[in-house]
Amino acid sequence: MPRRWPLDLKPGAHTERLATTAVGVPDPARKEIAEIVGAERVSSDDDVLVDSARDWWPLSGVWAAQGRVVHRPAAVVTPTTTEEVAGVLSVASHHGIPVTPAAGRSGVGGGAVPVCGGIVLDCTGLDRTGLDTAIDVDETSMLVTTGPGVFGDVFEAALREKGYTLGHWPQSIDISTVGGWLACRGAGQFSTRYGKIEDMVAGLEVVLASGRTLRTGGAPRAAVGPDLNQVFVGSEGAFGVITEATLRIHPAPKTEQREAWTLPSFEDGLDACRRILRRGATPAVLRLYDSHESRQTYDVDGCVLLALDEGDAAIVSASMAIAAEECDRTDGAAGADPALVEQWLGHRNDVSALGAAIEAGVVVDTVEVSGNWSDLPRIYSDVLAAVGGVEGTVVVSAHCSHSYTDGGCLYFTFAGMVGDDPDDKDHYYVAAFNGAVEAARGAGAAISHHHGVGINRAPFVRDALGPDAFDVLVGLKNTLDPAGILNPGALGLPSPFLPDGWTWS
Ligand SMILES: Cc1cc2nc3c(=O)[nH]c(=O)nc-3n(C[C@H](O)[C@H](O)[C@H](O)COP(=O)(O)OP(=O)(O)OC[C@H]3O[C@@H](n4cnc5c(N)ncnc54)[C@H](O)[C@@H]3O)c2cc1C
Repeated sequence: MPRRWPLDLKPGAHTERLATTAVGVPDPARKEIAEIVGAERVSSDDDVLVDSARDWWPLSGVWAAQGRVVHRPAAVVTPTTTEEVAGVLSVASHHGIPVTPAAGRSGVGGGAVPVCGGIVLDCTGLDRTGLDTAIDVDETSMLVTTGPGVFGDVFEAALREKGYTLGHWPQSIDISTVGGWLACRGAGQFSTRYGKIEDMVAGLEVVLASGRTLRTGGAPRAAVGPDLNQVFVGSEGAFGVITEATLRIHPAPKTEQREAWTLPSFEDGLDACRRILRRGATPAVLRLYDSHESRQTYDVDGCVLLALDEGDAAIVSASMAIAAEECDRTDGAAGADPALVEQWLGHRNDVSALGAAIEAGVVVDTVEVSGNWSDLPRIYSDVLAAVGGVEGTVVVSAHCSHSYTDGGCLYFTFAGMVGDDPDDKDHYYVAAFNGAVEAARGAGAAISHHHGVGINRAPFVRDALGPDAFDVLVGLKNTLDPAGILNPGALGLPSPFLPDGWTWS
């Protein structure tokens, strides 16, 4: 279950914002499930159902302030073992009940919302409570095995106790789980050194909709057909339930260096990042802010570039030296106070402003997309123009949060004020969010870099992948989950529970 919300629900009766057929859990199925997990782990209390009817999607925060939730399940079931997950899914398959896996519920696009009702499978019970430890470490192979329901801060603390790190630091580390990271193909703030979660995964245990359990991966760089780990990484609960994960780890860092610069323009900064990566340097953190965010966050003119590296001293020195050389080579660049990095570290996970902004009537969200270096300048300017052109927009800005040899992630933030009418807020949100996604895609971007698809990007997936590639996903879904019970609507896939899609009520 979630650890906290940006905004408490307005008290009183809660109406649903999504008009879809709600599938119930018939009594015989409920009884069978209770026998599998224990009656105390099957809940239909309205407080629990309402809590499972939303995630951290900022638009659902706007609705929470209005006393509305996205969509309730009929029951919340909390298994604690792989066998229990298999049993629950097999009963659900037999009775044709949709099952939406959910964990920390920190997803920002409605991905864990049970859009057709049915069962919410609360995966936070798969946290190895009752075992001696939340993690098993193979120190020789540098691998850790854990349960998907372990929250990020607990997981990383257990690793640190043994002298290791995963190096995965999403801003939501204390409200998200290992399984959620994998299911959404997430990224941490130190990803330039450690990679995204898809780079860290070595093996998975997954339960399919039928209850059948399989293992993927297990040995490095195997050439035994395609990498099946990657079928499930990013599958957002639509292909199977992840019940165990083995991830690659690193020695806890002994050295750290920090630097900051200002670049004359965002485009100059992007080019400096490109050259740093091209030379093989991978400072764990490389964050470039546009002029708006540089002024607002750091009170600095120009575009702030922060670099932080950690790990082996020789590698850190080389990486940071290359970063400095490439910044120095940029006309008009200047060194900035490295204390800016400290400032970022101190506030990097503080999102208390979100709830306050929603309460003040502001409609706000972020859109993170990835693109090749050759496309990023246009992606930046087209998204700014598209969202800036939506009536009500007060601000739209961006930073480059992750860099690779071939491109990077642009992380846009927008905010708008359109008065108190709930419909006006929804219309503004859809115009701004969809406008950003469409403009980014038009300029060559992938429509998400680490937040995943959820509800709000689902309508874009077919076009974003192309109809033929999308059909590969449809084929996988039909093979792995023939009755379509797992997370109906996820990834924009067709679902027997959503013959006409969904509409807002
Ligand atoms: C303030 C804030 C900051 C954030 N910062 C980042 C960031 O820096 N980087 C980043 O990548 N994301 C970030 N996110 C987004 C979010 O935290 C991630 O998407 C996270 O990975 C979701 O994990 P969760 O446990 O909360 O999953 P949930 O939100 O509960 O579920 C997300 C999806 O995963 C599926 N799922 C969950 N568990 C399983 C399982 N065991 N098996 C199969 N499917 C499963 C669900 O069905 C759903 O589709 C942020 C969110 C917030 C609110």
